Amino acid sequence: MKQFQILYKDDQGLLEKLNEIKQWRDSHSGYVTIFRIYSEDMEFEHIRHICDYLDDEMPDALYLGCTTNANIMDGALSDTKIILTCTIFEYETTQAKILQLPFSEENAVQDVAELKKCCDVNPWVQAVEMHATIMDMSMMEFCNEMSLLREDIQVFGGGAFNPDMDDETAFVFSKGNGFLEHGIIFLLLGGEDFHTYSTFISGWKPLKRKFRVTKADREILYELDGKPALDVYRRFLNINKNDRFFSNTLEFPLFLEHGDVNILRCPLAVNDDDSLVMSSDMQEDAIVRLAYGDPETILASIREDGQKIADFRPEVIQTFSCAARRAFWGNDNISDETILFNSVAPTTGFYTHGEFIRIKGDMLNFNVTLVIVAMREGDMPQTGEKVNIARAQIDKDNNEKIPIIRRFVSFIEASTAELEEMNKKLALTSVTDGLTRLYNRAEIERNIRDALEKRKEQRTHNNISLIMLDIDNFKKVNDVYGHKEGDHVIQALADVLRNTMTGVQYCHLGRWGGEEFMILLSDTNADDAAVLAEKIRKEFSAVSYETAGCQTVSIGVTQARDESSDVLYNRVDKALYMAKAAGKNQVVRLD
Ligand code: GH3
Ligand code: MG
Ligand code: MG
Repeated sequence: MKQFQILYKDDQGLLEKLNEIKQWRDSHSGYVTIFRIYSEDMEFEHIRHICDYLDDEMPDALYLGCTTNANIMDGALSDTKIILTCTIFEYETTQAKILQLPFSEENAVQDVAELKKCCDVNPWVQAVEMHATIMDMSMMEFCNEMSLLREDIQVFGGGAFNPDMDDETAFVFSKGNGFLEHGIIFLLLGGEDFHTYSTFISGWKPLKRKFRVTKADREILYELDGKPALDVYRRFLNINKNDRFFSNTLEFPLFLEHGDVNILRCPLAVNDDDSLVMSSDMQEDAIVRLAYGDPETILASIREDGQKIADFRPEVIQTFSCAARRAFWGNDNISDETILFNSVAPTTGFYTHGEFIRIKGDMLNFNVTLVIVAMREGDMPQTGEKVNIARAQIDKDNNEKIPIIRRFVSFIEASTAELEEMNKKLALTSVTDGLTRLYNRAEIERNIRDALEKRKEQRTHNNISLIMLDIDNFKKVNDVYGHKEGDHVIQALADVLRNTMTGVQYCHLGRWGGEEFMILLSDTNADDAAVLAEKIRKEFSAVSYETAGCQTVSIGVTQARDESSDVLYNRVDKALYMAKAAGKNQVVRLD
């Protein structure tokens, strides 16, 4: 595989380069020849003009291309608006075919069917490179269908785009098929001597704070944590609904786990109701996090994951990178993340929004991601040294953004962790009683109501019992030994309850008020509850206090019928009253 690269400046230069290519082909065994044309220039007459030259000068060569946000040449951001690559296959066995189709949400499935047919009649197809106009389109159905392609076919590519991130105009074109503003091109590649390896790297890291998708329908993300989805961007990043919403949010995509692949999703637009239009479908109940880029972490990921590309020993490398990455790094630094590959093989590509790659059969639509494709003809060379990407030098001083971003992230992560810890404590204090650390009245009541409701819906056990306790003659303890000693007695009873009930399943202990307690047993009948109550009574009466000596407790026990919680409370209270009336320090069971 031989690659020529052309920076289109003028016709003269193009013709010279085409002559050079023709000469090379004449003196070598060159077979299928493919030009890729990437253009930041949105005037399609300018591109058509170049296509005309290719048709005239090299009529047997295929060509395809699209408009882009910016181009990558020699592993770096190119300042030339139109770039061309010419790949000449050197093995007769390598084949290529172009399929260009109109593309919209309505005909996406049909297009994939067409592609499938094409792959069926051409069993040599090993890889499909794709370019499509995808702005404002849900790619969900398309991706689902693409996932059904023959399992061994690799797919990769990027959306056609525009140098202005907020402009939706884009087009694709290819030999013999003209220009399409809503179109898709599949370039089918394969043959027994053709080898390709594709991978993706993001390097973006999720912040700790989690949000749950509480409402979503296909690609519309309505709510996160029960609030309009825009709220997250407004509240945490001060990004508001305006003309630049799309370009502002690109740098802070949502991070979500899709099986074992982490996906970044960018909001494309915001609706009147503050819901967000995402680039692909969002699943309800999914957990998402805001992701951020940190130059050093990104480069570390590229060095680590990029080594596989180098190890493949490619002859040509293609990259489909995200315009958001360029916005993040800035034009002066963006090339740092692709230049490493140029020391492995000639690296070209473009900046887009919407990068595509098929992983383990699953067709994925990424944002803010770098898709890298390595191609080679013939076996892996046994000679020469593999490039060590991990140690490749970037020839310039590192920028000072690095420590600042990392410090801020570390500050945010620490604050989030602290807040989460505080929230946990708050949640706990709101349900527990300070003196005894048992559930407070509201919480034990909630538990009882829940248990009764669940039983009604037949979602839980049948036997629900209550044990209600009240310390005997407690006023006297307070009066004689002081309030503090009274508190000790209350705490001691709480300890007895905890100890006695250890190991009893579905048991909730609560302080009902003052020196009264309530125990909910959601899987215990009244017989067993009465046995437990007797055990508590005995244990408590055996505790001796330094000044107050031994104290006793009266206990009422009952089992719930099909009734309201109030009726149940009345009965257990009545049982307790009966225990008091019968002389205290005893258990009364009332059915
Ligand atoms: P009985 O045997 O009939 O239950 O008599 P009693 O004296 O225990 O009467 P009652 O249950 O009405 O008394 C409750 C007393 O508990 C009244 C109140 O001052 C006291 N008390 C309520 N909460 C606390 C507390 O948190 N600490 C202390 N030390 N005393 C409390
Ligand atoms: Mg009382
Ligand atoms: Mg009492």
